[in-house]
Amino acid sequence: MLQSYTLVNELYPWFYPVLVFCFGACVGSFLNVCIYRIPLEQSVVKPRSHCMKCGKPIAWYDNIPILTWFILRGKARCCGAPFSVRYAMVELFTGLLFLSVWLTYAPLPALALMVFLSFMVAGSFIDLDHMIIPDRFTVGGFVVGVALSALVPALHGYVSPLDPYFTRFFQGGITAVLGGFIGSALVLWIMLLAEIILRKEAMGAGDVKLMGAIGAFCGWKGAVFALFGGSFAGVFIILPLVLLLRRKKPAPVADKSAEASVGVAEAAEDASGDAVPADEDYDPTHIPFGPSLALGAFLYLVFFRDTVDLYFDTFKLLFFGN
Ligand SMILES: [Zn+2]
Repeated sequence: MLQSYTLVNELYPWFYPVLVFCFGACVGSFLNVCIYRIPLEQSVVKPRSHCMKCGKPIAWYDNIPILTWFILRGKARCCGAPFSVRYAMVELFTGLLFLSVWLTYAPLPALALMVFLSFMVAGSFIDLDHMIIPDRFTVGGFVVGVALSALVPALHGYVSPLDPYFTRFFQGGITAVLGGFIGSALVLWIMLLAEIILRKEAMGAGDVKLMGAIGAFCGWKGAVFALFGGSFAGVFIILPLVLLLRRKKPAPVADKSAEASVGVAEAAEDASGDAVPADEDYDPTHIPFGPSLALGAFLYLVFFRDTVDLYFDTFKLLFFGN
């Protein structure tokens, strides 16, 4: 199997990347179903995809990831009901995420990280929609992360052929457990201190659990980067994006005192009274933190891992010697 993999890779270097991208787009299609149905506590397998408006089942040829939206120009074939371009965007996005880990890691750790990214995409979009991340993506992500880290120790860089697999199995598992605990503890303490100093809830229990999943898959260094790098990226990428999207789709008006502090005054202005809140406790001034953490984890995995790990190792050297 390994031989044929190498052979195909040499003869057609585009083959696996294209396959992985298409696979990611299909997974993204399934994640769309999860993002929509799981918060409503509906089954993700049945009923099969159907039109939101008239309820007619959607034929397979109208359910092709990414392409369908463009072929149908955002209108359902059955009754012309418009459907959001976001479905196609999530599929494209998931395909690109899968492709980038495939190009960065060896096949097995890349596959494990695709599982991680699926958890992160679903969790992030549910967080954006409902300000909550269901436990199955956070606590579930931690459990799956520990299991996959033990099975694929290369995920945490345990690749030495000198160590028997048995040893690496435990090294991977323990690294994941430690990463999850350190990540969660870090956010928990920042949350507790922020509550005392700012007298305002900055993060939620969902973020603590999410960091458990991130730490399990990325290790403690990745978790630390996800928190700080993610906050940074969140301010410059996710915050403007959320505010932009909310301008288009007006959010319900909040109390005046909170508006100014986060700068969503415009979003609230647009909401001329008739906007319906998505959830009862929907708060437009609350920008979910989950997507920023997930983005930070992704940036670590694909772009900053070597730099960050080197930085921490230098640090360790300075304080503890060898
Ligand atoms: Zn329809």
